[in-house]
Amino acid sequence: MKKTSCTVFTSILLGACAALLLPAALSAAETNKPAAAKGPTEPPVVTPGTAGSPPSDAIVLFDGKDLAKWRGDKGAEALWKVENGYAEVNGKGNIFTREEFGAIQLHVEWAEPAEVKGDSQGRGNSGVYFMGRYEIQVLDCYNNKTYFDGQTGAFYGHNAPLVNACRKPGEWQAYDIVFHPPSKSAEGVAEAGSFTVFHNNVLVQDHIPVKGDATTAAPLSGIVPTGPLVLQDHGNPVRYRNIWLRKL
Ligand code: MG
Repeated sequence: MKKTSCTVFTSILLGACAALLLPAALSAAETNKPAAAKGPTEPPVVTPGTAGSPPSDAIVLFDGKDLAKWRGDKGAEALWKVENGYAEVNGKGNIFTREEFGAIQLHVEWAEPAEVKGDSQGRGNSGVYFMGRYEIQVLDCYNNKTYFDGQTGAFYGHNAPLVNACRKPGEWQAYDIVFHPPSKSAEGVAEAGSFTVFHNNVLVQDHIPVKGDATTAAPLSGIVPTGPLVLQDHGNPVRYRNIWLRKL
C-alpha cells in the first residue's frame, strides 16, 4: 500500500513520542537499582542497642563496674567513687580516657545530686570536655538560673542550648552528642569543627561551629586531631553511668 503523507507524519510523531518516553523509562529503572550499588562502599550493618544500651560497634568507656579505661590528671588511676553501677565526682580531680579520640558520637548518662545545694554555676556543675578542650556543660538547671551559654547543654562560653530539657535533680539524664574537631588546613588556617547535641533526646545544639583552641578552664588546649575525653570535677557529686562512643 502506498504511504500517504498523513501516515508518514503519524510515524514520525510516534517515533518522537517514543524518544521522549525512553529516558523516563530508563530513569525509572535506575531508581529501582539496589541502594548498595550506588555508593562506593556498602554501609556496614550495625545492630542498634535497646533502651540506652551500646550498639555493636561502640567503645564502652564505663559500664558501671570500674574506671579501667580512665586515668587521673597525670596518668594516675581515676579515683572517682564507683558503686551501684555509677561513678561519682568526689573532689579527686578530672578524669581522662586513656585512649584519644577525634570525631565521635558519644552517649553519656548523668544524674545531678538529689540533695540540692548552691545555685547558678555552683549547683551540680560538671562537664564533658571533648579532646580535653571543648566543654558541653553538665549543670543542674532545673529551676536554677545562670548565664545562658553556661547552662546545661551549652557549648560552654560559646553557645546556649536551644531549650532547657533538664530533668529533676537525682533523675538520670542523657546526652547524645556528635562532635567533629576543628582542624588546620595545609596553609595553617583553622577550619571549624561542629557539635550536635541531644539532651534527653531533645535537640539542644544544632550543628554549631567549634573554633579555637579550647573553652575556658579546659585542661588541654590547641588544635590537634585527637585528644582524651574528659569528665570534669567541679567539686559537686554528679554521677555518671553508661558511657560509650563510636569513632566517626
Ligand atoms: Mg562545667
